[in-house]
Amino acid sequence: MVSGKGGTGKTSFTACMATLFKKKVLADCDVDAANLNLLLNADVVEEHNFVSGHKAAINRDICISCGGCREVCRYQAISEDYRVDGFSCEGCGACFYRCPAGAVTFAKALCGHFFVGKTKKQEYAVFAELLPGAENSGKLVTAVRKKALEIALEKGSKIILTDGPPGIGCTVIASLTGASFVVFVTEPTVSGVHDLKRVMELSRHFKLPGAVVINKSDLNRSYSNEIVFLCLERGFNLLGSIPYEPLVSQAQRQAKTILEYAPDCAASNAIRQIHRKLNRRLETL
Ligand code: SF4
Ligand code: SF4
Repeated sequence: MVSGKGGTGKTSFTACMATLFKKKVLADCDVDAANLNLLLNADVVEEHNFVSGHKAAINRDICISCGGCREVCRYQAISEDYRVDGFSCEGCGACFYRCPAGAVTFAKALCGHFFVGKTKKQEYAVFAELLPGAENSGKLVTAVRKKALEIALEKGSKIILTDGPPGIGCTVIASLTGASFVVFVTEPTVSGVHDLKRVMELSRHFKLPGAVVINKSDLNRSYSNEIVFLCLERGFNLLGSIPYEPLVSQAQRQAKTILEYAPDCAASNAIRQIHRKLNRRLETL
């Protein structure tokens, strides 16, 4: 599931699909702000370190203050008294190779963690957290997807439901690579239409089939119609439209999906219809 922007209801929709699809593994690829696990009440059963890239450090007991490391550091990451600023260090290794005294260590950097959670239905959800200021978020997305695939193969799950991050950056590309089907969750607003176009182009670039869900579709009929035309123009099917439902916020406050909180409301009925359509589409892949 991707949206091109935040706030379209993508994660809430993914959580609803998670309650409807059987035998699946969930992968929350929004590594900067994972929250699917909160909606699904997943308990952590495994925790893994995510180590990527390197960071320099200087042992000042060995340092002979020759200044060589400061000369070669292009990121001004080393202070006058030869301390490395971890946020500025880009892990290029120049100081490590330049140091004549062997005072620079160049260890792998801990950039975050990824977790395996078990939902109340005893299904698996993989999610992650990037440490503040850490980079390589695309690689962390790949680690989450790899773990989800490993669990799916081990447990015989046919579907991996992925909640993609917002935007069209490297984390989204890492979320889409190798996907068999993309669901674009959008909303009828200026930015919703604009960002839908961008993420459609990205999917087209990777030759991925996909279809669109319009969330809060009755908030602006004119933009909803524009999205329908966009689907026709770009060759993506419309999976369905979900009307605005104020109870969604109340459901979220109680860590429930709208399907659990108000199963008979119009939005829940629309979501179940979309699930049936999506399920039929996935069976053809
Ligand atoms: S690894 Fe590169 S960026 Fe980091 S302190 Fe050394 S020279 Fe500077
Ligand atoms: S290059 Fe090595 S010895 Fe020279 S100042 Fe830097 S850390 Fe110290």
